Amino acid sequence: MTGGHGPASTPRWRRRAVLALGGGAAVGVPLAVAFGARGGASSRVADGEVLFATEGGVTVAARIASAGSPQSATLPATSSSTPTPTPVALGLELSPGPEVGIGETLRVRARAPGAASASLEFRGSMYRAVVGVDGKLWSVLGVPLDEVAAEHELVVRALSASGAVVGTGAARVVVVPVERPVDYLQLTADQASVLTPEAAARESALRAAQFSAFDGAPRWRGPFLQPTTGSFTTRFGQGRSINGGPIGGFHTGLDIGAPEGTPVVAAADGRVAWVGVMPIRGNSVLIDHGGGVKSGYHHLLATQAVEGEFVALGAPIGQVGATGLVTGPHLHWEVTLWGVNVEPLTWARLEFGPTV
Ligand SMILES: [Zn+2]
Repeated sequence: MTGGHGPASTPRWRRRAVLALGGGAAVGVPLAVAFGARGGASSRVADGEVLFATEGGVTVAARIASAGSPQSATLPATSSSTPTPTPVALGLELSPGPEVGIGETLRVRARAPGAASASLEFRGSMYRAVVGVDGKLWSVLGVPLDEVAAEHELVVRALSASGAVVGTGAARVVVVPVERPVDYLQLTADQASVLTPEAAARESALRAAQFSAFDGAPRWRGPFLQPTTGSFTTRFGQGRSINGGPIGGFHTGLDIGAPEGTPVVAAADGRVAWVGVMPIRGNSVLIDHGGGVKSGYHHLLATQAVEGEFVALGAPIGQVGATGLVTGPHLHWEVTLWGVNVEPLTWARLEFGPTV
C-alpha cells in the first residue's frame, strides 16, 4: 500500500500534487512510455485526465487538454507541492485472484468514492480504468504469452475530476505458467510462401494501427459467445514450430475448424473497429467492446461488417474461410486486452464485465 507525500511514497510515484498546467508548460512528454507502451498499443485518455509517470527519478505529469494534445510539465521529485486531500487506501479485488496464468485475464475492481478517473500500473505499463458514477473502478489486463512466471506489484491510483489523488491501492500479482502443447505446423511450399518478411512487417504495422486506440465504456454484458461452431483445431497460446523448425512465437487465438461459408457472429456487443485484408490473418474483422477489450475474426471467406457500425452479440459479421496463411478453412478467433492476446475461451466461460 502506498499513500501520502514525500519520502513515504513509492519511488515510482513520488508526487501526488494536482497540477494546474498553464500554457507555458512543456509539450511533448513521452506518454507512450507510461501508457500502454507494450506492443505499440496506446490508451486514449479523457480530457482533463491527469497522467503521471516516473523516469529517471523525475515525475512527469500531464493533463490532457484535448484529444491527442497533452499539456505537460516535468517536475523534479524534490519540488514542493500544493496540499491535497490524503488519499484513501483502496481495497483491490482481483479476479480470478492474486494468481493469474500467462495468456490469461486479470480483472481489477475497487471502490474509490469521489473518483472520476483511475490508472493502473502493471509490469511497467500504465492502463486506464473505467470509473462509474459511484466511484467503482474496473479494468481488465492481459498477461502476454511471452511473459515469464514472476511476481509483480499492481498499483492503482484514483483521481477526482480536478485531478486530486483520492485513493491509491497496491497488490501483489503472481504470474504463473500455463502448460500448452507445441503446435507442429506443416505447410506446403505454396502455403509457406505467404510468410515473407514483407508480409510479417505489413501484418505488424496493421496490428499497431488496430491497437492504437480503444473505446471507453464497456458495451457488453455477460460471457462472450463462441463466434462459430466447429472443432478446436489449434488452441490459444500454443508454441509453434513450422515444418520442423524451431518454436517461434505463440498462437495468438483459438482456431475453430468449420466448412467454408459457416456463419461467424460477433462474440459480444461492440463497435466494428476494423474490416480489411491482412497478409497472414487474411480477411479480418475487429470489434471494439470498450474498456480495452477487442475481439478479432480472421481468415474469413467474406465479411459483412461495416467499420464504425455497432453490432450486437450474435450478429453475423462474416463467413468461415481460408484466406491468409492457412492449411484449411477455419476461424482464427482472438480476444485482446489493450492489444495483449488472451485466451478467448476464458471469455466465453466467465463474465469479466464491470457490472458482474
Ligand atoms: Zn489460428
